[in-house]
Amino acid sequence: MTFSVHGLAVARGIAIGRAVLMASSRADVAHYFIEPAKIESEIERVRDGRNAVVDELHRLQHTISMMGPKEAPHELSALLDVHLMLLQDEELIGGVKHWISDRLYNAEWALTTQLDVLSRQFDDMEDDYLRGRKADLEQVADRILRYMKGVALPVAPPAASRRKTQQDLLLDDSIDVPLVMIAHDLSPADMLQFKQSVFAGFVTDVGGRNSHTAIVARSMDIPAVVGARSASQLVRQDDWVIIDGDAGVMIVDPSPIILAEYGFKQRQAELERGRLSRLRHTPALTLDGQKIELLANIELPEDAPGAMEAGAAGVGLFRSEFLFMGRRGHLPNEEEQFQAYKRAVEGMQGLPVTIRTVDVGADKPLDDTRRDEAHLNPALGLRAIRWSLADPAMFLTQLRAILRAAAHGKVNMLIPMLAHGSEIRHTLSLIDFARAELDNRGTPYGPVSLGAMIEIPAAALTVKIFLKYFDFLSIGTNDLIQYTLAIDRADESVAHLYDPLHPAVLRLVAETIAECDVQGKPVSVCGEMAGDTTLTRLLLGLGLRSFSMHPAQILAVKQEVLRSDASRLTPWAQAIMDSEDPAAALEA
Ligand code: PEP
Ligand code: MG
Repeated sequence: MTFSVHGLAVARGIAIGRAVLMASSRADVAHYFIEPAKIESEIERVRDGRNAVVDELHRLQHTISMMGPKEAPHELSALLDVHLMLLQDEELIGGVKHWISDRLYNAEWALTTQLDVLSRQFDDMEDDYLRGRKADLEQVADRILRYMKGVALPVAPPAASRRKTQQDLLLDDSIDVPLVMIAHDLSPADMLQFKQSVFAGFVTDVGGRNSHTAIVARSMDIPAVVGARSASQLVRQDDWVIIDGDAGVMIVDPSPIILAEYGFKQRQAELERGRLSRLRHTPALTLDGQKIELLANIELPEDAPGAMEAGAAGVGLFRSEFLFMGRRGHLPNEEEQFQAYKRAVEGMQGLPVTIRTVDVGADKPLDDTRRDEAHLNPALGLRAIRWSLADPAMFLTQLRAILRAAAHGKVNMLIPMLAHGSEIRHTLSLIDFARAELDNRGTPYGPVSLGAMIEIPAAALTVKIFLKYFDFLSIGTNDLIQYTLAIDRADESVAHLYDPLHPAVLRLVAETIAECDVQGKPVSVCGEMAGDTTLTRLLLGLGLRSFSMHPAQILAVKQEVLRSDASRLTPWAQAIMDSEDPAAALEA
C-alpha cells in the first residue's frame, strides 16, 4: 500500500530505489557491491568470522568452567550459551547469504542488513525476555564484524553513484537498481563514509535543514530528507521508495502512476542539469557588468575536482574538521594534514583555497563514541575556535600544516566562531608562534590571508574590531541564524523557526557587508544562504559580491546572477530588509 512520510527538504532531486535500513551504529561499515565471482569468498568471510567467534566463545566457556561460582557466576555461562545459539542460528547466516548472492552486497553490509531484519523481528516479540535478546544478537554481530575487520579484504572501489531514471527501472529490475538509505540518525562522520558509497538518496528520522548531516548530503548532490520522524520505523528493508528532496517527502511502495509521475520529474531535473552545465565557462557577471565571485564549499581534498568541474573560482570554505572525524581519538598529525591541504590546493590548480581551522563540537562530534552528551548545550560550549584554543598543541599542529600548504598555492586561513577580542589576539599570537616554530625547524611555508567567520551576533555587531585584525571576513549564516534566533539548527522540532529571512538576520548580514565595503576588505557568505537561489538577488541587493556554496549549486546561482541587475536591486533589497515580514515581501 502506498503511503508518504513528510520531513524537511534538504537536498534537491528525486531518487527512486529500494530502501536499505541502517542502524546508525552500523554506519561506519563499508558498503559496496561485489563482483559475482566473489560471492563464494564473501560468504566464506562471514562464515570464517562466525566460526572464529564460536571458537572464541567455546574457549571462554572452557575457561569459566574452571572457575568457581564467585569469579564466574552462572549467568555468564548462560549468556555465552545464548550467544552461541544465536551464532549458529541459520536465519542469521541464511539471510546474510541472500544479501550477498542475490544483491551482491559486500560481507559486512550483508551482515548488518540481516542484523537489522532480525532486530525488527525481536522488537515485535511479545515476550520481554525474548525481546531483550536483541542486544545479544547485536553483540554477536559486532564480534563477527570485528573479526572480519581484522582479516578484511581490501575495500573495492565504490560503484559510481547511480542516477537511474524510472524508465531504467522499468526495463531493469535486476539487482542493479538504486538503493536509498533510511536511518534514524546519521552523524556528519557517517555521511562522510557514504560519500564513497552506493546510495542514491537518504532519509533520516531526525535532523534540521542546516544540520551538518544535511549539509554533507547537499554537498553530495543526492536527494535527501531529514526530520522525517518515524520513517525508519515505517519502512521495511527492501521496500520501493521515492525520495522527493525538493518537497521533503518520501513515498513508500509507490503505485505505477506515482512512479511514472516521479520518473517524469526525474527526467526534467536531468534536462535542467544539462542546460545549466552550459554555463560552466560563462563569466559570472550581472546585467550591469558587476563581477560576482562564486566559490565552492568542500569537506575533503577529494572534493576539489568537483569544485573545478562546477567552474568555482576557488574554495571559499574547506571544512577541515572532516579530516578529524571518525578517527576514534587519533587526530591527524601535521604531515597528514599538510598532505591533505596540499592535495586540495593542488586540486584547485592555482585558484585560492580558504582552509577553515577545525570546527568540531555541537552537531559535529569527532566520532560517534565522542558525542558531547556531558554538556547541556554543546552548541554554546567548547566548539570551533574555543576547542582549538583549549588545546594549543593540537591547534599549532593544524596551523603549521596550513602554513606549509600555503607554500604550494594561494591559501587563506579562516577562523570559526570568534566572538571576543581576546580570542582574536590569542589566535593571532598562536599563528605567529606556529610560524616561528617552522622558522626554527627550517621548514618552508607560505603567506596566508587571514579571515574570520562572522557566525555569532556579537561578532556581527563588532565587525570593526574584526576588521582591525583580519584581511577578510566570511559570514557563516548557518550559525549566525542559529545564534541570533536561539534555534538549534539540528533540531527538527524547531526547524519552522529557523529563518534566514528574519529581519534581525538580514540586518546583521547587511551591516557586515556594508562595513567591509567601507573598509575595502573582501567579504563572502559561506553558509547555506549563499547556495539558495531564492536568496541570490536579495544578497546581491545587500551588496554581496562573493558567494561560497556546494559545487552542485554554483551553476544555478550563476544563472540567477546573469539575470540580475545589481544596481537596481539595492533599493529593493533595502525595502525587503526593512519590512516586517521579509519572506512575504520577497515573494510579492
Ligand atoms: C556556517 O555556520 O554558516 C558555516 C558555514 O559553518 P558550518 O555550517 O560548518 O558551521
Ligand atoms: Mg558555522
